[in-house]
Amino acid sequence: MNKEKVFKKIILPFVGGISIIISLSVLIGWGINYKPILSIIPGSSTMKVNTAIVFLFGGINLLLLNNKNTSIPFNLLSVIIGFIGVFTLYEYFFNSKLSIDNLLIFDKFSTENSGRMSPATAFNAILLSIIFLSNKTKNEIFEKIGLLVAKFSLVISFTAIVAFLFSIPTENRTTFYKTMAIHTSILYFAQTLVLILNHRKSVLSKLLFSNYSGSLIFKKLLPIILLAPLVFCYLIIFAINEKTINVEFGIITFIVINIPLTIIIIGSVSYNLNKVNKEEIELNNSLIKTNNHLSLFKEALDKVAIISISDQNGIIKYINDEYLSISGFSRKELIGNTNRLINSEHHEPKFLSQLWNTINEGKIWKGKIKSKNKNGDFIYLDCTIVPLKDEDDNFTEFFSIMYNITERIESEKLRLKYIKTIESKNKELEQYTYITSHDLQEPLNTIIGYINIFNEKYENKFDEIDKKILRYIVEASLRMRLLIKNVLDYGRIGQNTKTEEIDCNIIIENIKKDFESKIKINNAKILYKNLPTIIGVKSNIYLLFQNLISNALKFTKKNTNTEISISFLENEDFWTFKVKDNGIGIEEMYLSSIFKIFKRLHNQNTYEGTGIGLAHCKKIIDIHDGKIWVESSINNGSSFYFTISKKIKIG
Ligand code: ADP
Repeated sequence: MNKEKVFKKIILPFVGGISIIISLSVLIGWGINYKPILSIIPGSSTMKVNTAIVFLFGGINLLLLNNKNTSIPFNLLSVIIGFIGVFTLYEYFFNSKLSIDNLLIFDKFSTENSGRMSPATAFNAILLSIIFLSNKTKNEIFEKIGLLVAKFSLVISFTAIVAFLFSIPTENRTTFYKTMAIHTSILYFAQTLVLILNHRKSVLSKLLFSNYSGSLIFKKLLPIILLAPLVFCYLIIFAINEKTINVEFGIITFIVINIPLTIIIIGSVSYNLNKVNKEEIELNNSLIKTNNHLSLFKEALDKVAIISISDQNGIIKYINDEYLSISGFSRKELIGNTNRLINSEHHEPKFLSQLWNTINEGKIWKGKIKSKNKNGDFIYLDCTIVPLKDEDDNFTEFFSIMYNITERIESEKLRLKYIKTIESKNKELEQYTYITSHDLQEPLNTIIGYINIFNEKYENKFDEIDKKILRYIVEASLRMRLLIKNVLDYGRIGQNTKTEEIDCNIIIENIKKDFESKIKINNAKILYKNLPTIIGVKSNIYLLFQNLISNALKFTKKNTNTEISISFLENEDFWTFKVKDNGIGIEEMYLSSIFKIFKRLHNQNTYEGTGIGLAHCKKIIDIHDGKIWVESSINNGSSFYFTISKKIKIG
């Protein structure tokens, strides 16, 4: 509960209740003639019956004060309170007896003005009546009058209380205060104070109930302002009574003491005001700085992004220039309308309802939006919508940041289209190569067959030159057959897609058997240890190792024992294999071109071959999502590396 609520719900009814209890007790006291209740301090004035009625009505009025439906009884009671005061003062001024003093009960305790309240009490009753009425009025002037009057009432009742506190003899209190009872002054003070605090226009309530720095300073200084003069006053009166000082000196001392006290209080207020002012200036400066930063951010964002702010109905409240230039609409066409770029008709209603559900839940929505600009051209937007909270923690504004990705999407579409075309062209080409090479084999086999027959039939009639020519023809035809076979094999790679677990140790073991005689001739060593089991197309992996080992056994250095080592490294996503030899090596400029089909670095007489082996390897590695490369230099052997993806699944 805030302070104002505590006041209205607890303090105000409490004062009302206490007023009713005390006034009823006093009325009963009069009924049974029990003096201690009437005067509280023995020998001092009594609270009169009419005064008790004023407080009874005042107490009831305090309970009715903030109730809107009780204006009639409230105003009636207020007016009665005022009339009691007016009639009593009339009696004082015109020395007449309107006989309201002892109307209900006869006052036998007072010697003077029996049953009549003091002039101060009567005057205060009138003031109280005005304060009550002004608390419920809507007339501003009357409200102000009420507050002014309340201050008088407060001073009068407070003076009476202080007079009691300082035990000032009744005869020294002027006729005005003479017969005012202690509980009368306390109840006046309490009722007036709560009425001031309840007043709509009251500065005091604003000071006490708020937490602004002014209020904090006020609350801190209030006890000193109230107590210090009272304490000094008490001490001076004590000194006068003790005859230590005379009255004139007492008054001078009191005034002089109040000068430094006032300076201290005003000084403290000023110092605190300075402090608050300084903090305010610092805060202001840092706000300006932050604001500048934010403006820079905004400027930067405005330059690169399409920004809009919409309300919870999707109605645009703000758009930046980029929005205008991308959408082609004018600001007039957009502000106050739905967000045309986001509410695109090119999405299913489900898509948009999901978008709204997400942002209404206070979550950020991210996605791609297909839209149209004013000219009717399609645009694609990468969009992020951030819901913004208002002071009541509701998401009432949505901040969208969009990027124009039309070009990217269009080029991606083109790329996919090209890839598809290339793939189908490649397939066509492979098919073509396969068919051609297959058809080429037949006439070639016929040529080779007939040359053999021809050779057998006329062998004895040929001289040495003829025989040599025939041998060359046979050799060339055989080479051509091998070439065609290799081209056929190249076309076949990729047709088989069955992947399985492959133990590379077994593969190498088998390849060693294939090349047994070559290994013997070269006195070669093939070294490998604990090669891994990988997943791939078995026939392909076999061919891959076979080609690399075959090359290593072929391109050897003279007078050197061939040594081939096969090793591997394992990564999170792939295996890296290395096939290293100590052969003739490769010139640096050819390191990448040797993987192209038919690329050879030597002629047929030096090293036999078709130039297809490494092209095979490259194609196999492409199928296994890997890379192949070679590190080498002339005369220093070669190291062929290739990677095989671990993401390939069996099947
Ligand atoms: P081929 O072996 O039939 O000539 P490849 O495609 O297998 O065809 O090899 C292409 C060329 O790369 C070879 O002619 C050779 O010049 C070079 N090459 C391949 N492997 C090696 C190696 N281990 N050492 C040296 N050169 C090599």
